[in-house]
Amino acid sequence: MSHRFDTTAVHAAREDLASLGVHVPPIDLSSTAPVPDVETGGDSYEHLAGGGVLEPGQSTVYQRLWNPTVARFEEALARLEGAEQSVAYASGMAALSAALLAIVQLGRPHVVAVRPLYGGSDHVLSTGLLGTSVTWAQADTVDAAITPDTGLVIVESPGNPTLELVDIAAVVRQAGTVPVLVDNTFATPVLQRPLDLGARMVLHSGTKFLGGHGDLLAGVIATDAEWAARLRAVRALTGGILHPLAAYMAHRGLQTLPVRVRAQQENATVVAAWLADRPEVHRVLHPGMPGTDPGGLLGRQMAGPGAVLAFDVGDYEAAARVVDGVHLITHAVSLGGVDSLIQHPASLTHRPVAPKARPLPGVLRLSVGLEDPADLIADLEQALTR
Ligand SMILES: *Cc1c(COP(=O)(O)O)cnc(C)c1O
Repeated sequence: MSHRFDTTAVHAAREDLASLGVHVPPIDLSSTAPVPDVETGGDSYEHLAGGGVLEPGQSTVYQRLWNPTVARFEEALARLEGAEQSVAYASGMAALSAALLAIVQLGRPHVVAVRPLYGGSDHVLSTGLLGTSVTWAQADTVDAAITPDTGLVIVESPGNPTLELVDIAAVVRQAGTVPVLVDNTFATPVLQRPLDLGARMVLHSGTKFLGGHGDLLAGVIATDAEWAARLRAVRALTGGILHPLAAYMAHRGLQTLPVRVRAQQENATVVAAWLADRPEVHRVLHPGMPGTDPGGLLGRQMAGPGAVLAFDVGDYEAAARVVDGVHLITHAVSLGGVDSLIQHPASLTHRPVAPKARPLPGVLRLSVGLEDPADLIADLEQALTR
């Protein structure tokens, strides 16, 4: 039976709990699992190490290969993204690394990526650490950048930290048969479902909105069964599976994801409008603000502007004064939690990005939480005017 999105968020991958006599998912911390006999053990190992989904009668063998608590979170997230399956990792970067290793193994190690991306993603692509090469393209020059060696196209929308919207369907059309991976960390499936637009893989840093409380690291890729098997095989071999305690918390986070994202988005919209009227602020970057969405994608591709915004206070000194001056808002990287965080991308998250692609020195990124927006505005006002 399929339910509406908010109902799925609360109940997905919990349908069997009543039959287990419990109300919340059990947490399985076993690093290893008893093997009933040599043959079952061997068959299970081969099946799981090859990327298979655990079958009835099989042993989970070893936590790096399969964990029931992780599998619950994976099923729930897949349902929210409209995917066949998902594969969860210890962090967003571990998830991206697995996708990159998978295309290296397929013999198509070239990546076409649209900037801006998360600084860590930009860095791992620029260094070629995992054996990939990269061509940086604009959203409308993806087709020209594709070669016979291209194994993956990577885009992020909204982009980090400028909040530019990228036309995902248009990128998918240009990519042709090359799979497109969309980093959906900022939008979440509450506001945007890239698989419905033709993307092959959706990546999340579950550390951000999915977890939602700043107390876990997680990464996940939602995709079809074929790619999921490939990604699980990489995970089984290289490690990087999500820890079951973090999986439990991420699964719980999904239950409140829709209400958190909508409420934080509402607060962000109030704060963005206030910032736009301030003399100290040169420009506010939040989808829907003038100039941030030339393609008219808001309301079409993405249901709302989201809870992360950026604003330009002119120069490095002014930006440093603001982050030093906030009290209620925490000066810290990361985003998507119930409390508001502010940070200076050029110095922190986007430090490794090539200078020509680095954010402007006066730009600050603000992840708006669930506080009363009047208190956030008061904090920003004293920090801007001190
Ligand atoms: C944080 C982040 C990542 C990396 O995720 P980690 O969980 O920190 O490894 C990737 N993409 C985006 C958009 C992010 O914000």
